[in-house]
Amino acid sequence: MPVFANPNFLINLPTLCAVTGFITVISGMLLLFAWLQNRNEPALALWGLGYLIGTAGAVFLVRGEPNVLTWSICAGNALLSCAYGTMWAGARNFEGRRVPLSMVLAGAVIWTALCQIPSFYQSNEARVVLASVISAVYSLLCAREMWYARDRELISRWPTLVLAVVHAGFLLARIHYAGTIRTLSDAHTPQSVGLFVLAFEALFVAFAQAFLRMSMAKERAELQQRKSALTDLLTGIPNRRAFFELGAPLLKRTIADRRPVALLLFDLDHFKEINDTAGHDAGDHVLRAFSRLVTRTVWPGALFARLGGEEFACLLPDVPMAAALQVAERVRGQFAAMKFSALTASTTVSVGVAMASEASRELSALLAIADRALYRAKAAGRNRVTPAPLVLVEISGEGARQPVKIGGPAVIPAPLAG
Ligand code: GH3
Ligand code: MG
Ligand code: MG
Repeated sequence: MPVFANPNFLINLPTLCAVTGFITVISGMLLLFAWLQNRNEPALALWGLGYLIGTAGAVFLVRGEPNVLTWSICAGNALLSCAYGTMWAGARNFEGRRVPLSMVLAGAVIWTALCQIPSFYQSNEARVVLASVISAVYSLLCAREMWYARDRELISRWPTLVLAVVHAGFLLARIHYAGTIRTLSDAHTPQSVGLFVLAFEALFVAFAQAFLRMSMAKERAELQQRKSALTDLLTGIPNRRAFFELGAPLLKRTIADRRPVALLLFDLDHFKEINDTAGHDAGDHVLRAFSRLVTRTVWPGALFARLGGEEFACLLPDVPMAAALQVAERVRGQFAAMKFSALTASTTVSVGVAMASEASRELSALLAIADRALYRAKAAGRNRVTPAPLVLVEISGEGARQPVKIGGPAVIPAPLAG
């Protein structure tokens, strides 16, 4: 015998509804409390409000007489539609999208308008169908917002999305039970098993959705904290910590796959003079312009970061020395050609270029090699690209490793072709 149909099973439908109402109020208050702790996420307030409006709607509904349209049933369903609309508003706000008030209220307006038509309000089935469809549509719209989430990394959006779709399914399943029960108190009949399942689902969803929404907000806050810990405030590019955190495994992976990987180490020339003559703000402006220039020049897959002050590094996987030198030279040339209104003299950069090898599996070792090349560029008069003189270059795909002497002078003063 199914557990719900067992006469010894003591939970009755009104009790279950009361528990669900209680859980919903608590969840709504917890969401509002979570918003007070994290004011950057107004979606939490909207979700909390949605829960409270929904509970008010449910109170009106249980006060009404089923199968008879009273003002209580009418107001209850209008409030429930409003609650689902507010939940959807929360989902949109969470994704940083506009919340059209007309859409939030559309469900309630449609419901109230149809309640003015006698053939509609006299039909219990028609009322259940409309109320279920309105809630299910809002639920699916919530799922849609999660699907097109702006933070693709948020893991908790997936269970939230699945739950919203499953909940929409249950809401639509409710249509099947329209008119099978007359009052909540005589619900202990075999055909009311479906209603128990629906009531349990409502209880589960009220709790689980609130929990998941709070974890989404928490996950986003942690994600943002992590992002800002890895981002350079001035230029918006990865900082030194990010360079080592992301660069070390990238370097190890590329070397293990026997693919070439180059490191470009940039240091702006006489940068102190820029600060001294044109001011710190002008210096900041130059640093931002340089970051934008390199970001534009390198491709996705490269790791470009500000190591500190006027020193930048770029890890280029799958790039042999010749191509790395071309990239460095392009940056050097374009930076020297840049005009800054606050500066009279041109700004220049020196670049040290090193290729990773078995001897420089560690990022710090590779940086040290590039740093020596950079030092030589500075010593040779600045505004130039210098390769590390002797590097082990991986021959891509062959698995063979050959020592290669970079041809020509170790210091390249003139622009390279290409
Ligand atoms: P060199 O050609 O030898 O590299 O000389 P330099 O003047 O560029 O090098 P130095 O290390 O003497 O000076 C670096 C300067 O960068 C000193 C510091 O005031 C400035 N600096 C460091 N961080 C920032 C920043 O965030 N903004 C600005 N405007 N200046 C910065
Ligand atoms: Mg420096
Ligand atoms: Mg410098």
